[in-house]
Amino acid sequence: MEDETGEATLIQKAPHAGAVFGAEVPAGLGGLGGSDAGPLTELHVFWLAGMSCDGCSIAVTGATAPSVEELLAGTIPGLPRVVLHHPVLSIDAGHGFVKPFRQAVEGTLGGPYVVVLEGSVPDDQSFLEEGFFSGLGVGADWPASLEAPRAPDQPLRMTDWLRAMAPAAAASIAIGTCATWGGVPAAAGNVTGSMSLMDFLGKDYRSALGVPVINVPGCSPVGDNFTETVAAILLFLQGLGPLPEFDELGRPAWLFGETVHRHCVRAGYYEEGVFAKEYGDKECLVDVGCWGPIVQCNITERGAINHMGGCMVAGGACIGCTMPGFPDKYAPFYKAPPGSLISGRTARTTGAAIRRLRRISMGAGNREFIWDKTGEVPSGWSAERSEPSTVWKWSGFFYKKLQYSGSVDQAKRNTETPLPRSRNVL
Ligand code: SF4
Ligand code: SF4
Repeated sequence: MEDETGEATLIQKAPHAGAVFGAEVPAGLGGLGGSDAGPLTELHVFWLAGMSCDGCSIAVTGATAPSVEELLAGTIPGLPRVVLHHPVLSIDAGHGFVKPFRQAVEGTLGGPYVVVLEGSVPDDQSFLEEGFFSGLGVGADWPASLEAPRAPDQPLRMTDWLRAMAPAAAASIAIGTCATWGGVPAAAGNVTGSMSLMDFLGKDYRSALGVPVINVPGCSPVGDNFTETVAAILLFLQGLGPLPEFDELGRPAWLFGETVHRHCVRAGYYEEGVFAKEYGDKECLVDVGCWGPIVQCNITERGAINHMGGCMVAGGACIGCTMPGFPDKYAPFYKAPPGSLISGRTARTTGAAIRRLRRISMGAGNREFIWDKTGEVPSGWSAERSEPSTVWKWSGFFYKKLQYSGSVDQAKRNTETPLPRSRNVL
């Protein structure tokens, strides 16, 4: 095909309706697909790999809520069994593995399917003969009823399948930052023309259910973010739940609505103005390059695997890997973000005072009432101060006034309570 400038190109409009890309919307999309087939018992998931490191696949195999095994076995009440067609995890290989892809393209799969893309989309639909960046099957694997985009013995491009399958899919899900926003393969100097699934399919893309591209970013993503999103979509397909809420970029809103910083295990250090000087320090990592205050990611709440780990827990600063601007807009990764000059300095100033005040309150709270009364701390562990200092006493007096204003100071009764008689029994 040639465009008006005479340049060879394979880019076509409306692939779903074309002779080459002729998949039909499958019958039987549960209660919501315009069919009376009833709840789904099975849903095919076609996993396509573009410019990827397979890290998303590895992350998903670590998911626990729900796990991949639960989805594949269909053991979650109300959810259909997932039939996963994955280039690494599937047992089938060769033409046998590609066959269901062909059936999906020609509309003979017999049930609905979801397309999942891992890795960014290379720009190899823009050239005719010069090879490809990511392939799957050969031209002979294409439906005989449709014109094949490649010769029978030539590799089909991953992008051939993506163009053909996305329009009839119940949903198209991009997993990981490469598929959602281009990621590392689309960074400055990218020679593959890599782009995101959204960039490839365009803003008018809608799945067979009318859903735009769903994006679950992260490099690698939290596996549970993906399986939970799939489970939520399946509940929707079954008529058991509403369409989950997605933000303006197609991210699951309940997973990406908060910043890393708000739930960070080191956020208290930031507030008190105490910062790490080098990697390995336990304090807030903003001075060594953490972008957490402006990055939308839930790893600080959810952990990396089974609620364990995550960047700051493991000592790593946030480099913004879930964000569309990653990696270039967050580089260099070892420098403090310019925005932290203001907020960091403010935290240093106010935090220094707040830290000292808190230490006074902590000191008072670290004493039993008995110790206050006797002026003695029976600890053999340290030279614990026996008598509260004058500063403690005065600050404690005003602190209590505020603490119990509008309430009742039940602790007052401690002054009348007799000391235990068997105290200091040895
Ligand atoms: S380490 Fe990063 S996310 Fe955590 S408190 Fe510091 S700036 Fe915020
Ligand atoms: S905390 Fe930052 S670097 Fe870590 S996963 Fe989230 S976005 Fe990526």
